Amino acid sequence: MSLLSVRGLTKEFGNLTAVDDVSFDIEDGEFVSILGPSGSGKSTALRMVAGFEEPTSGEIRLDGEDVVGSPPFERDVNMVFQDLALFPHLTVAENIGYGLKQRGVPAAERRERTERILEMVRLDGYGDRTPSELSGGEQQRVALARALVNEPALVLFDEPLSSLDRKLRQHMQGELQRIQAETNTTFLYVTHDQEVALAVSDRLVVLDEGRIQQVGTVEELYEAP
Ligand code: ADP
Ligand code: ADP
Repeated sequence: MSLLSVRGLTKEFGNLTAVDDVSFDIEDGEFVSILGPSGSGKSTALRMVAGFEEPTSGEIRLDGEDVVGSPPFERDVNMVFQDLALFPHLTVAENIGYGLKQRGVPAAERRERTERILEMVRLDGYGDRTPSELSGGEQQRVALARALVNEPALVLFDEPLSSLDRKLRQHMQGELQRIQAETNTTFLYVTHDQEVALAVSDRLVVLDEGRIQQVGTVEELYEAP
């Protein structure tokens, strides 16, 4: 059974069909990118998987269970936003532990998990800083740590690296691949940047004007004659 299975997913905003009859599967442990130009429906599709937006029609199954209609916190999914959305008045550790606290995880376990995930993203010792005391790349790591700390099955990324300069972006791409492998998590990464999509992902879902153009591995889509 696929970890994520999307069937006939459609989202209309008035007369506009932002996502148009989209179907794809993602297997456990894959790193898949949704690639397409601005306005092609990538974010809307991702937001429906996360539960921030309800489909007009279609099916979203996580581990076989239809999640349409269930709120975001009940889905085994976390999202890293383009603007990262860190809480500026909370420390790095509080940002990471926030969701665990909401779920009633005791302080000692929160601390242990927070320390472990800070190590994973190579920010050990940064727990008591605030986000404004960190570089752009370090803030990216905090957002990633926050998305990983409760060990979700699936992490969604809405172009979080697009604001970084090229060198740092390439470094973070490698870090994403390392962390994905080490945490054994499934990643679904949205980008308009073909170079990024080719660099990080096992498979690509190519969208244009809300419709799927192609689905396949990097080799299938770009290297085969
Ligand atoms: P992408 O992420 O590929 O840039 P989006 O999913 O953000 O594309 O948007 C797809 C289309 O849906 C765009 O034309 C956008 O303007 C429109 N859209 C997105 N969200 C809304 C909304 N809340 N209300 C109306 N139109 C929207
Ligand atoms: P509370 O949030 O209940 O006030 P604490 O202030 O002890 O509890 O901790 C806040 C959150 O951050 C918890 O998730 C805790 O486990 C974690 N935490 C606090 N400081 C650090 C740190 N320096 N390094 C790692 N984790 C920390």
